[in-house]
Amino acid sequence: MTETVTNWAGNITYAAKELHRPRSLDALRSLVADSAHVRVLGSGHSFNEIAEPGTEGVLLSLAALPAEVDVDTAARTVRVGGGVRYAELARVAHQHGLALHNMASLPHISVAGSVATGTHGSGVANGSLASAVREVELVTADGSTLRIARGEGRFDGAVTALGALGVVTALTLDLEPAFAVEQHVFTELALDGLDFEAVSATAYSVSLFTDWRAPGFRQVWLKRRTDQPLPGFPWAAPATEAMHPVPGMPAVNCTPQLGVPGPWHERLPHFRAEFTPSSGAELQSEYLLPRPYALDALGALDTVRTTVAPVLQTCEVRTVAADTQWLSPAYGRDTVALHFTWVQDTAAVLPVVGRVEEVLDAFGARPHWGKVFTVPADVLRERYPRLGEFAALAAELDPAGKFRNGFVRDALGLTDRTS
Ligand SMILES: Cc1cc2nc3c(=O)[nH]c(=O)nc-3n(C[C@H](O)[C@H](O)[C@H](O)COP(=O)(O)OP(=O)(O)OC[C@H]3O[C@@H](n4cnc5c(N)ncnc54)[C@H](O)[C@@H]3O)c2cc1C
Repeated sequence: MTETVTNWAGNITYAAKELHRPRSLDALRSLVADSAHVRVLGSGHSFNEIAEPGTEGVLLSLAALPAEVDVDTAARTVRVGGGVRYAELARVAHQHGLALHNMASLPHISVAGSVATGTHGSGVANGSLASAVREVELVTADGSTLRIARGEGRFDGAVTALGALGVVTALTLDLEPAFAVEQHVFTELALDGLDFEAVSATAYSVSLFTDWRAPGFRQVWLKRRTDQPLPGFPWAAPATEAMHPVPGMPAVNCTPQLGVPGPWHERLPHFRAEFTPSSGAELQSEYLLPRPYALDALGALDTVRTTVAPVLQTCEVRTVAADTQWLSPAYGRDTVALHFTWVQDTAAVLPVVGRVEEVLDAFGARPHWGKVFTVPADVLRERYPRLGEFAALAAELDPAGKFRNGFVRDALGLTDRTS
């Protein structure tokens, strides 16, 4: 490529031979039909080679396509183009008095890229962001278009699909009436005696943060819908000032706290759209496991905290309701998600990632598809009972493996007929 293209974190430089930014659907269809290997780059917020098409492949950005955000207020749905980011979708939905059920920690990420990797927010009753999708529009390997709607048998393979089925040119999502949210932050929650089920159910969305420098949590963030009761939180003290979950980072980057109510899209993400999310210089990993194992898994992490803490910026614990997408890390099980924001030093972080994976292995942990992990392919296959159906769907829609890169082949053990 004549220009250097990296992911957001800067730890991946794409080796693709060409980068294309088609300006129309027809141009995109021709590019796909005429290329041997294609991957789409969303907003580039993944931390691994999931979007890498390889040195003989073409990287497609949808950023130059019209940024469609079409709300149907009667049906309470929104149809968004394949390059649209959550910040744009949320702003338009809110103008129509409507809301998404949940958001990730940042609104900067593309909708198509996020649901492709099983991205999630928090909340015991909140499914991953993919669970709001009701229809997917694809350009498949021969350049033709295809719609797959909720209710069709293959739909559960079509949303969290790692970009392996084709180019997602539009998604239709469910909306609900807009709601307001308050954020309440508490400090110093003990691990000893933690009632995880009670704590994680105190609000619509709950996140626990720790640096693992000591047992227990430095911060707890409750996101309470103002149409739901305000519970007591007897386990920790309320914060007296706004906080950033990464120690030393400015709270101004974060969405307002201290119980100030505001619209859903300005409270559900931790980070404000107009500022750098998280720390900006980092790597991330995350493991999703059945929620009933939460306390045991936290106890297991506590045994390796002196290994983890030196390369950790913050660790966040969230919950995700079970969903039905075959490749979703929350497939079929109510989930606790254990997230790690590491320092930006791959050599120092990778051995610690391996150690974390060892201690979480007993809990059937599934790694986040968009973050750093070293879990081998045979273990991944055990953890995804519907993987065979996904492989069959990928082979049906993309028989020559045009959209199958090294990441997809390695991670899922899919083979391509040409290799
Ligand atoms: C600061 C930060 C905070 C984060 N917070 C969270 C969080 O709160 N919760 C969480 O779960 N994750 C979180 N993530 C991870 C992030 O949500 C995922 O990596 C997500 O996939 C990013 O979306 P993207 O558009 O940047 O995807 P990319 O990294 O660009 O792509 C991801 C995958 O989607 C595919 N893809 C993208 N667009 C299309 C398309 N139109 N058609 C077909 N395939 C496509 C790509 O080929 C690739 O396989 C965070 C990441 C960062 C950097």
